[in-house]
Amino acid sequence: MIENQSNWAGNYTYSAARLHRPETVEQVQELVIHCRKLKVLGARHSFNGIADSPEALISLEHFDQVAALDRARRTVTVEAGVRYGPLCRHLNREGYALHNLASLPHISVAGACATATHGSGDRNGNLATAVSAMEIVTADGEVVVLSREGHGEQFQGAVVGLGGLGVVTKLTLDILPAFDMRQDVYENLPLAQLEDHFDDVVSSAYSVSLFTDWRSARFNQVWFKRRVTDGAPVELEPELFGATLATSQRHPIAGLSAANCTEQLGIRGPWHERLPHFRLDYTPSSGEELQTEYFVPRQHAFAAFRAIERLREHVAPLLQISEVRTIAADNLWMSPCYKQACVSIHFTWKKNWPAVRALLPVIEEQLAPLNARPHWGKLFTMPPARLQSLYERLPDFRQLLRSYDPQGKFRNAFLDTTI
Ligand SMILES: Cc1cc2nc3c(=O)[nH]c(=O)nc-3n(C[C@H](O)[C@H](O)[C@H](O)COP(=O)(O)OP(=O)(O)OC[C@H]3O[C@@H](n4cnc5c(N)ncnc54)[C@H](O)[C@@H]3O)c2cc1C
Repeated sequence: MIENQSNWAGNYTYSAARLHRPETVEQVQELVIHCRKLKVLGARHSFNGIADSPEALISLEHFDQVAALDRARRTVTVEAGVRYGPLCRHLNREGYALHNLASLPHISVAGACATATHGSGDRNGNLATAVSAMEIVTADGEVVVLSREGHGEQFQGAVVGLGGLGVVTKLTLDILPAFDMRQDVYENLPLAQLEDHFDDVVSSAYSVSLFTDWRSARFNQVWFKRRVTDGAPVELEPELFGATLATSQRHPIAGLSAANCTEQLGIRGPWHERLPHFRLDYTPSSGEELQTEYFVPRQHAFAAFRAIERLREHVAPLLQISEVRTIAADNLWMSPCYKQACVSIHFTWKKNWPAVRALLPVIEEQLAPLNARPHWGKLFTMPPARLQSLYERLPDFRQLLRSYDPQGKFRNAFLDTTI
């Protein structure tokens, strides 16, 4: 058994007997050749067994360098153990930015992209959409480089790879010139307003997050993250669709200190200190939580809210907080947003797995008519046949996995069951 055997939340214990920490690509190649079954462990922030292996795990914690910044092509190449926090600081110092970030910067770039991790924003694809090239050690120990330019369809299949194609050792990401942002919070948005004004609300800033505890028919908070353009003042209304502008810092969960949250109240700051909800220097929470998230095609947003509202008395007692975000459509085969813009409904649960496990099938049944797909890295109970029916490129992805990994070296119980 490996030391410290569990994921970040402590709800999943890895079954692997060994954890290797290679320092060079050659050592990765040797491990891949000699292990019968293995998997890469990222920052351990997934809530299910997607990162587990019945035999050996590899940590790329020594692969933590930014390898190259190409100003002409506007790309950055990173070693695959790099986490968003240090990468963002580096990019910002150099005058660059990523297009979007998840709610916290502590996750690894490779682990996040493997599961189509996302932030919010009508025009923002998930984090994997920034990947333009990947270096992978495949099952036979070969180093393969796949790129958006050179490998078309195959590349679109490989990026959200669920850890199944091999050991990603480097990633190249698209970057933008650095930009400043401001964050403003409104409180108590009536749910009914979203029937006619959902598009108005979520399109009114670069990234918008709506938080609710489902205790009443309202969203407790709406976080607007806007890009600041010099010389263009932002005039904020004290009231917006029935919600009121907050006058002090807020934590998404009522009653918790906002000290670990990124700066609000319209104070201008760099992109990487506004896009995540939680500051890099703070641990966002103690891990005393479970997470679930479903993606529905954007046009079904309000129907999905009503579906959850119908379950309010079951959902609210188990919940810490729920967050709604929007994600642009993309071309990545295993992305929940493949060819369709989505709205995601996320649940941070209290750590009561028996009760949550009993409730998830009920939520999934309510959302089924809306073709909801679960987040790959969070908890769900959807039957595999149902999940598989929602991914039109699944047969192609299976074929891709077979061609890169014919013996199933990188397959684990999660992939065997769901894919
Ligand atoms: C507090 C918290 C907040 C979160 N916020 C968000 C959010 O805002 N948005 C969102 O979408 N998700 C969010 N998540 C979920 C999280 O982003 C995903 O589960 C993500 O995949 C975790 O990345 P990781 O680095 O921890 O990778 P792990 O969970 O360790 O691994 C995930 C997958 O990536 C594979 N992998 C990792 N590195 C490599 C590599 N080098 N080569 C090949 N495969 C690799 C693993 O094998 C596994 O299959 C959150 C999770 C937590 C705990």
